[in-house]
Amino acid sequence: MLIIDEQTAGHLLDAQEAFHAVEETFAAMARGQARNFPVVREALGHADALYGFKSGFDSAGATLGLKAGGYWPHNAEHGLTNHQSSVFLFDPDTGRPTAMVSGNHLTAMRTAAACAVSIRHLARTDADTLGIVGAGHQAVYQLRAAAAQRRFERVVAWNRTPGRLTELAAAAEALGLAFETPPLHRLGHEADVIVTITSCHEPLLMAEHVGPGTHLACMGTDTAGKQEIDPLILQQAQVFTDEAAQAVGLGECQHAVDAGQLDVERIQALGDVVTGQCAGRTAAGDITVFDGTGVGLQDLSVARRVAARALEAGRGQHIHF
Ligand code: NAD
Repeated sequence: MLIIDEQTAGHLLDAQEAFHAVEETFAAMARGQARNFPVVREALGHADALYGFKSGFDSAGATLGLKAGGYWPHNAEHGLTNHQSSVFLFDPDTGRPTAMVSGNHLTAMRTAAACAVSIRHLARTDADTLGIVGAGHQAVYQLRAAAAQRRFERVVAWNRTPGRLTELAAAAEALGLAFETPPLHRLGHEADVIVTITSCHEPLLMAEHVGPGTHLACMGTDTAGKQEIDPLILQQAQVFTDEAAQAVGLGECQHAVDAGQLDVERIQALGDVVTGQCAGRTAAGDITVFDGTGVGLQDLSVARRVAARALEAGRGQHIHF
């Protein structure tokens, strides 16, 4: 069994590889070759933590495993990020463990990659302004991955506490992109692509804030009760997701479906767009929404690539188990 620590995992996965891993995973799900198993997520009643498992099996990529971890809101006091996770991979032929890979950097990379896959397949090709709503740990990863998908010239960003936008500004500058911080309603109108990546529990972006032709990648809502956008946007938009069951249960779609504003039948899999089974954006003036809820197979696919790179490069620690 190979053990790969956080720093090594960070060195062995780049954004392009994460993109291909996630795009292939969505395609395998669409072809019925890969499936996610039911998610376990529980409040521990200790340290205010949320803890759980995401797992799945991809027969096309021979990938079986799980990600264990969750959210510890007081971790800054220990000098740690709030999200902590580890990925375990198993040999699908024998059930023997093959690798344990630290999953913190991987989670950020696979989440940003899912957002990027949605932009690649759904955003207008002439999109030139990228909007980022949120400036937490995930935001810079999102910005970098999104920026690679179109010839963006400008980033418009908003955060509840504007002081936290400095890291995003530096990341935009490093990519040669102009950076502005308009109020949220103006951001909605100015951006052609908007990535939302907050822990909000009520709509931030309202329907009247979003212009025709916009692509929204809603990445923050991954738990029942969270919400980032007005359900009216979903009522009016073409809606895509990583996995419909998760979108309805714990993604951005949960509220619009509950309110009767979004028929479950209208939620399409991004994987179907990747494989060509679904056309994707049908008109330049349409609003498209990707509800990126985060599936276990994304974690497994990037972890598998890291484990393969580690074997090639002689990195990681081997143990008899
Ligand atoms: P973080 O704690 O570092 O940052 C949280 C962000 O949310 C900050 O920008 C904060 O200002 C904003 N925020 C919180 N409450 C708000 C409110 N009421 N109004 C406006 N803004 C508010 O978190 P992070 O690691 O950057 O993750 C952001 C979100 O993305 C989290 O909710 C996390 O669970 C989610 N996430 C989703 C996936 C996925 O696959 N979909 C993966 C990882 C994280």
